[in-house]
Amino acid sequence: MGTVPISPPVSDGNEGCPHFPAKLASVGTTIFTTMSRRATELGAVNLGQGFPDFEPPARLLELVAHHLGARHNQYAPMAGVPALLEQIAEKIARLQGVGVDPAAEITVTAGGTEAVFAAITAVVHPGDEVVLLDPAFDCYAPAVELAGGRTLRVPLRLPGLSIDFDALGRAITPRTRLVVVNTPHNPSGALIGADDWRRLAALLEGTPALVLSDEVYEHLVYDGKRHVSVLAEPRLRTRAFAVFSFGKVFNATGWKVGYCVAPAELSAALRRVHQFVTFSVSSPVQWALADYLAEDPDWGERLAAFYQARRDRFLGLLAGSRFVWAPSSGTYFQLLDYSAVSDEDDISFCGTLLERHGVAAIPVSHFCGQPPAARVLRFCFAKSDETLELAAERLRRV
Ligand code: GLN
Repeated sequence: MGTVPISPPVSDGNEGCPHFPAKLASVGTTIFTTMSRRATELGAVNLGQGFPDFEPPARLLELVAHHLGARHNQYAPMAGVPALLEQIAEKIARLQGVGVDPAAEITVTAGGTEAVFAAITAVVHPGDEVVLLDPAFDCYAPAVELAGGRTLRVPLRLPGLSIDFDALGRAITPRTRLVVVNTPHNPSGALIGADDWRRLAALLEGTPALVLSDEVYEHLVYDGKRHVSVLAEPRLRTRAFAVFSFGKVFNATGWKVGYCVAPAELSAALRRVHQFVTFSVSSPVQWALADYLAEDPDWGERLAAFYQARRDRFLGLLAGSRFVWAPSSGTYFQLLDYSAVSDEDDISFCGTLLERHGVAAIPVSHFCGQPPAARVLRFCFAKSDETLELAAERLRRV
């Protein structure tokens, strides 16, 4: 088979531009974009980039159509449509038992990614240190780099990818501006519990460090477990940005609507950036989301059962394969250990899987500063029966 053109960095052909010193030159194009493109080119089953095969609720689509026709087509308020901010505050009160001021503490953003970018840009100064827990989603480090900050990576601890608080404690210095955490965790599905939040709060006490908590998969938590937000830990609530995504909640990743919850002072800092990145986010979609959440506030809570069944279907179909796994506790991703199949590193095995077996996955190396200790790939199971069956049939033959 040919060479595998997916090793990091994935070239975008632009590193050598002679006219200006490129920023993010070592980054190239994201692995998600690259794998989706390669999967299409090769006609492979795409379990790489995380997006659902499923549609938003029909009533929500109706409401978007309604607001397109109801003259809600001009700029939304910079921080978000007030009715939507109210609904978000109600959801947080109901699920996390926390009061949030909708006008001062919530900002609607162009997806979770913009919220992450705006939060990092708002608080990280040149020379500041930002601690990431590896594997860490791919959009954190580039934002730190663009802000002139320095990234320190602390590996999560195998097998369950729990936080190594001793190592984290050692990484915190007087220059630490931000600790970035993610629960449910992409790519592993690991969850941060109330005890972890308490330990993190104790660790940060007396330091000026802030917390950025990526909680975009908040509703996708399985086996009777519960999502615990950073917002529910009072000692962190005062120093945390919490990031959420309507794309994940409503099977609408293409709408790019998310939001950030943070104390008024941090929200004001974030909005100073947000107003110059996007200014504001799709009006008709915000109006529709506000109406939908008022009519059916429990949709998000019903989602877990739906995706848990997808996970179980996928894992059931893999019985008899040589892959090994612990069922994912959250997100719509499943890590599969391939050490019984191959000695290759994850990037090269991902290429083999794509080119020889016709299944696209994501190598976890792309989330790590150092090559990961485990031989695992990430698979997205937010897919139809047909897609999962075809993928599993191919994976069973590996
Ligand atoms: N969050 C999704 C994933 O992890 C998609 C990310 C993207 O395409 N930027 O696959």
